[in-house]
Amino acid sequence: MSIVCKFGGTSLASADNVRRCAEIVKSDPRRRYVVASAPGKKTPESKKVTDLLLACHKNRFQEQAFAESFAGIESAFREIATLAPDFPIEEELAAIRRQIQFSETSLDFVLSRGEYLNAKLLAAILGYTFLDAAKFVRFQGGELDLPATIEQAKDIDREGRYVVPGFYGVDEYGYVKTFSRGGSDITGSIVARVFGCEAYENWTDVDGIYVADPRVIPRAKKVEQVSFRELREMSYMGASVLHSETLLPIFEQPIPIYLKNSFAPEKSGTEILKKRTQVAEREVITCITGKNDYTCIQISKMMLDKQLGFVKKATSVFEEYHINISHTHSGLDNLCFFVEQSEYKTIGFADFLEVLRARIDADKIKGYDNLALLAVIGHDLSEKVGLLATVFNALSKHEIGVRTIYQSISECNVIIGIENAELMKAVQIVYAELVG
Ligand code: ASP
Repeated sequence: MSIVCKFGGTSLASADNVRRCAEIVKSDPRRRYVVASAPGKKTPESKKVTDLLLACHKNRFQEQAFAESFAGIESAFREIATLAPDFPIEEELAAIRRQIQFSETSLDFVLSRGEYLNAKLLAAILGYTFLDAAKFVRFQGGELDLPATIEQAKDIDREGRYVVPGFYGVDEYGYVKTFSRGGSDITGSIVARVFGCEAYENWTDVDGIYVADPRVIPRAKKVEQVSFRELREMSYMGASVLHSETLLPIFEQPIPIYLKNSFAPEKSGTEILKKRTQVAEREVITCITGKNDYTCIQISKMMLDKQLGFVKKATSVFEEYHINISHTHSGLDNLCFFVEQSEYKTIGFADFLEVLRARIDADKIKGYDNLALLAVIGHDLSEKVGLLATVFNALSKHEIGVRTIYQSISECNVIIGIENAELMKAVQIVYAELVG
């Protein structure tokens, strides 16, 4: 029986915070695996160690700027190291300094050093074994290679108690590769999967998942339980809960995740399960969120339903320009593609519309930008009679125009396209109407 505990950056940002996390680990003997983030912000004004490492890499040949950022890293780690008096902190810091200043060192390697050193320190504090993620977390073509990771982890002694640095692994050539920011959450589920843990506890500085971002709705309600699907939708749609790829390693062999607050461990947190076991009427809606800066391309073509290969032709143009489509939906005679504005890197939005017009034989192609997608996520939304009417009435009462609507087949979300500038107001209105 074992549990993996992943601690986020704020939970490990100072000696006091680390002591609290160590107490949490020690209070349950099943907590045999720990995943550490790099130290986060100690105060709202201070910087995360990962951001300081980024600055160090950028300024590695500018002595003054480098020294300033590196001093921030040193002070964060020296403070935590007061909890492990025998730990060779100065040697470790000197090695990291040398590695960053060596011109061949990759950015990924530099960024990984925050997790690396914090995990080593935490292992010393807990009396656990440091297990480098580079030993078993494998990437292939820039993505996590789960089968190879499982294979590599087979030889690791299951009797041990380990601290594993989050956020990185190694690629097919043996070089350190990081996940995108916030990726230690993924390491947590990798560890849960490869060591067959019964639970994955993700410890942060908040009490759990809220129906809306408490910065937008200060009275927002906490959710007791969400499903894997709901979580995927909410993190994809901009709710800052867990990294959007957290579930990949445990989707097939579900392991429950418990979101907990390391500053208030007695609180119930939020349980994330493959399938929800309780759905009280008042808990149908789990999240109201949204994301700015989308474009929408609407393609109209009479008798689209009879045109073999039309969709393929359209999507191949996006593919050619490396433009990732976020959502699509189609009607009888039209198709709609939602794309994040930041995807237009190789070509501008207006130019891409021209290319599409030249390449596909459509009746009309129209483009909209500066769109926000408002998402209402919850349990079996498609069965909730009157939900859409309530949302639309609320928006129209406040003169927020709806550009488009999309209900996914996963049945747990409804997505509504509105103007960028109206997103925050829309979240507040819809929350008031659906939740209270
Ligand atoms: N330290 C990294 C970040 O700040 C990764 C993580 O904390 O998950 O994004």
